[in-house]
Amino acid sequence: MNCIFCDIINKKAHAEILFENEKVVSFLDIRPVNYGHTLVIPKIHYENFLALPEDELCELIKVTKDLSSAIVSSLNPEGLNIVTNNGMAAGQSVFHFHFHIIPRFNDDDFRFRPNLKKYNDGSMCEYADKIRAAVVI
Ligand code: AMP
Ligand code: ZN
Repeated sequence: MNCIFCDIINKKAHAEILFENEKVVSFLDIRPVNYGHTLVIPKIHYENFLALPEDELCELIKVTKDLSSAIVSSLNPEGLNIVTNNGMAAGQSVFHFHFHIIPRFNDDDFRFRPNLKKYNDGSMCEYADKIRAAVVI
């Protein structure tokens, strides 16, 4: 399988690694939205959020929080986006699960401004019913 993030984990490709333990690696995104834009990935290749086992997710989110604190204290951003794109339609371009930590500034040029929809009469309840019927916890 050809995966640039697996290559980074296996030291076959260079990355500016910020943190590493037995389960997780974190490094700078090569094309940052803002400088300091960081990725946090599991060492095992999982394609997306739904494929991740819970213990991996717990470790990833813990490291994501610790790296977020480090970014805030070292770079002083005015905000942070912590996001994960899942599937091509959602903008995923590397199919090895990752969290993005994006430092944000009031005057930066990163904008996510969708045309927000409105639910028609009754349709909000229909969507909620469909999702509620599928919940398995
Ligand atoms: P996504 O589009 O959500 O799948 O995010 C993938 C991210 O990986 C993008 O922001 C890319 O800039 C980043 N990326 C791709 N190749 C590399 C690399 N070799 N080193 C660091 N970041 C990379
Ligand atoms: Zn991979």
